[in-house]
Amino acid sequence: MNSEIGNGHEEKVIGGVQKKSGNTHRKSLKDSLDGELRGFLTDEGQLHTYDDLTKVNPVTPTTVLKCLQARYRAQVFYTHAGCTLVALNPFQPIPGLYSQDVMKQYHCAPQPQESKPHIFIVAEEAYRNVQGQVDPVNQSQVVSGESGAGKTWTSRCLMRYYATVAASSSLMKSQNTVERIERRVLDSNPIMEAFGNACTLRNSNSSRFGRYIQLQLDRSQLLVGASVQTYLLEKTRVASQPTNERNFHIFYQMTKGASGDQRKDWKMLHDQTFAWLPNAEKTLEEDCFDETVEAMVHLGLDAEKQGHIFRILAGLLHLGNITFCSATDESQPCDFEEHSEDFVHNCASLLGVPGQELQTYLRVQTLRAGKQSVLFRPCSLADCSVRRDCLAKVVYAQLFEWLVAFINNSMCAKKSTWCNFIGLLDVYGFECFQVNSLEQLCINYANEKLQQHFVAHYLKAQQEEYISEGLEWSFVQYQDNQGCLDLIEGTPTGVFSLLNEECRLNRASDAKQFRTRLETELSDHGSVSWDKFSTLPHFTVAHYAGKVSYQIEGMMEKNKDPVPPELISLVQKSQNPQLHQMFADRQAEDQGTRGLRQVVTVVSKFKNSLECLMKILHSTTPHYIRCIKPNAECRPLTFKKEEVILQLEACGIVETIHISAAGFPIRIPYWSFIQRYGLMSNLTGVSQGPGENGLAADGTDALAPAVTAVLNAALRSHPLDSSDDVASDRGSA
Ligand code: ATP
Ligand code: MG
Repeated sequence: MNSEIGNGHEEKVIGGVQKKSGNTHRKSLKDSLDGELRGFLTDEGQLHTYDDLTKVNPVTPTTVLKCLQARYRAQVFYTHAGCTLVALNPFQPIPGLYSQDVMKQYHCAPQPQESKPHIFIVAEEAYRNVQGQVDPVNQSQVVSGESGAGKTWTSRCLMRYYATVAASSSLMKSQNTVERIERRVLDSNPIMEAFGNACTLRNSNSSRFGRYIQLQLDRSQLLVGASVQTYLLEKTRVASQPTNERNFHIFYQMTKGASGDQRKDWKMLHDQTFAWLPNAEKTLEEDCFDETVEAMVHLGLDAEKQGHIFRILAGLLHLGNITFCSATDESQPCDFEEHSEDFVHNCASLLGVPGQELQTYLRVQTLRAGKQSVLFRPCSLADCSVRRDCLAKVVYAQLFEWLVAFINNSMCAKKSTWCNFIGLLDVYGFECFQVNSLEQLCINYANEKLQQHFVAHYLKAQQEEYISEGLEWSFVQYQDNQGCLDLIEGTPTGVFSLLNEECRLNRASDAKQFRTRLETELSDHGSVSWDKFSTLPHFTVAHYAGKVSYQIEGMMEKNKDPVPPELISLVQKSQNPQLHQMFADRQAEDQGTRGLRQVVTVVSKFKNSLECLMKILHSTTPHYIRCIKPNAECRPLTFKKEEVILQLEACGIVETIHISAAGFPIRIPYWSFIQRYGLMSNLTGVSQGPGENGLAADGTDALAPAVTAVLNAALRSHPLDSSDDVASDRGSA
């Protein structure tokens, strides 16, 4: 069978042992063969009925967009796009769409892929693949999309699905254990969202960190535990919130949901306002303190531990109200502004640190001169605020890290009790703001890595497999983003390496000088450009999803992420056992890294953690869910074409459809195919099984030529008397 690229309607069958892809069994064979007999030009009135965008003809950005729009209008939110599932955000709860009955329906369906498109198809496919007939293999669900597109919502639904189906088959087992672990896995969500999510301009429940959750399954496919890995928490938010955005939910939950006693304990009078709690008047459904506390209890955080945690958080709010003013004598440390005295006192008491030392080290830097003597140097007014913010960021980030470790401890099963996992990846989507800095560079780099994984796994691998199978195939062009990745991560001359080198040299950071260095070293890269007339030093990267300009000013400092050692020593003296414990570990870490005489920068840490993630992803069978945000205002059931098309372009959905449509949606082992369809051809002997190679066809039946062609291809590359192939084909049939 020849493949015409982009014809978008032919549905083909190839032979060969089923590979690990697991994504390509969307259509039944009947459907597939019927497709060849149908008329192909898509009827616009019927667009909403197209469950798979590969069936739309012709496949162009416009037809794909129209189809999605028609489906959205008909309140159909999921559509297959070959190997990917497109999920449109309805921005309102759809009754019954995720109910237990619906879960059961997909779980019990003999061929779930023949049911209406749904995330539960993807979930079920992964669940069945884990117990694969030949070789059980770990699975990953990669959920992508821009902020507010529905990644976290989708991940939660997937977790609920597994918590339900992996438990329903467990009635014979110790129900209690299973129930307890499911509860804990689900309860990790409200805690992580309370501490890691915030209301932004783009999403009132925006995840400010990335996460990869592994659901651990035992030999009988039961959920026995889970673990979570987080990436790059946006800790700056704790001390500075962009205009019209908010701090992390947990602070609002506390101030709104606290009891009278708690308020007293946290030194919060009713009319108390906090500088780091902007837009507190906004009421969100995420402001649910009770739910967070309940989840903490389920995960084993007792009232005492919770008390310590909330006192730390309250301490940070008081810290945020501390402001400074210049001293009359310039050689003296800055003063606290009048109203700040109480806040300094409250903060010290809640954090359990010596008040006098807090006062000193917020305003004074210590310098070591030789082994013994220590010099004190007053900080500038601006530096005092930087130190205050720095203390808040390091404490909050450490608390978040500690919580994640606690959650893992509480959910993770012993290695001996689980054998496979299904991973759920929910990371921040591609970002392009008016001003972009190191955070956006890291986030967009992560998206480049995921895109490369998708391209490598699906687009490249599939086409290479066709060639190796001896099928006639013209390569579909797709955008390879290796150039962009080289630009960012390449050594020794990639943006990250150069940035690290600059930080290691510890020169006074000069943005202009660094920009000149970048320009000299990266001049050969096609993926970077410079606007010579721009006043602010910057560089522009051509990402697969579009161009983004990064401002260089402040990047080096962010990459070093320095924390004044006096402030670390201060919190290590804390009487708050929680705070003390969190930083006891940190000390060991710092000494270790100092011993290596290396600065562990933000980008090197991020790059390493991403490399680990990519290794895990490569070892699993991936499933892709692309979430689309139909309108920027998050209005229910509103579809804005201009906004959707940009997202479709950014994730290369049309290319994906072309390859899926031009490719072979079904992979059936040769021998199995011959057994089932051999009778339809006139090939001599094939219907009797392996052993004869007669190849004559008279074409009397409409399907006979197609079947015969496949058989010919099959026999050419896998002769029936080749016992090895037949045996392996049978094994997987
Ligand atoms: P971010 O990158 O900012 O974390 P996200 O992609 O994780 O964004 P979500 O928080 O999952 O976005 O979704 C944003 C909002 O959209 C949700 O709070 C919810 O109100 C709504 N939403 C998302 N998916 C659905 C759905 N399937 N049904 C109903 N509402 C949904
Ligand atoms: Mg999210």
